[in-house]
Amino acid sequence: MDWQELLFGDESANFLLEIALRSVIMFLLIFLGLRVAGRRGVRQLSIFELLIIISLGSAAGDPMIYKEIGVINSLVAFAVVFFVYWLITKLVENSDKMENILEGEPMYIIRDGRVSKEALKNKVLAGDEFFASLRFHSFSHMGQVKAAILETSGEVSILPFDDAEVRPGLPVWPDQLHKMYKVIPHEGVYACFKCGSTKLIAKDERTECTFCKKNDLWVEAVSDAKKQLV
Ligand SMILES: [Zn+2]
Repeated sequence: MDWQELLFGDESANFLLEIALRSVIMFLLIFLGLRVAGRRGVRQLSIFELLIIISLGSAAGDPMIYKEIGVINSLVAFAVVFFVYWLITKLVENSDKMENILEGEPMYIIRDGRVSKEALKNKVLAGDEFFASLRFHSFSHMGQVKAAILETSGEVSILPFDDAEVRPGLPVWPDQLHKMYKVIPHEGVYACFKCGSTKLIAKDERTECTFCKKNDLWVEAVSDAKKQLV
């Protein structure tokens, strides 16, 4: 094995110093770029903005470490990316349709305590991640949720039911959620493990969920009105 090549590639050790200088310049350029784009946190990024970050990251990263790529080359790529960004922002400002195409649309993922039809159709619910965000907002089961919307930023906005309107629902805390039954142990209200639809099921019965039609695993529904204490 050639250690010289593994550690330094084709360049001499002196190039390391140049890498340091290139990295500082590119770091400052990215910082400037993000300030121009006016964003502070990665969580708020839409797909479109993420695309820009990736383009910029790629344009910025290469001249840090490749001798044959100059800083100016990157700068041109930066200028082009920002020009396109500016152009598209202008288009978005003037057209709602364009905005939906580029940024995506907020989508209902829960309606009245169970997964919405559109979420089932678009398969947007990644179970664990979604349950985690309900837990994060101190909900103990889906029957407490009147509506939840997946925003274009990836955040979930949740509208709770009033205490009096809370209905039995699928628990979202692992200890209860993971007690699934195919054959029902005793009569009661159970919630579909996949979509949270609830149903009164008799002892020893096996049944399929009629709402999502994809599931025969049931979890005993819980009905506390109060949110969990956190
Ligand atoms: Zn279901």
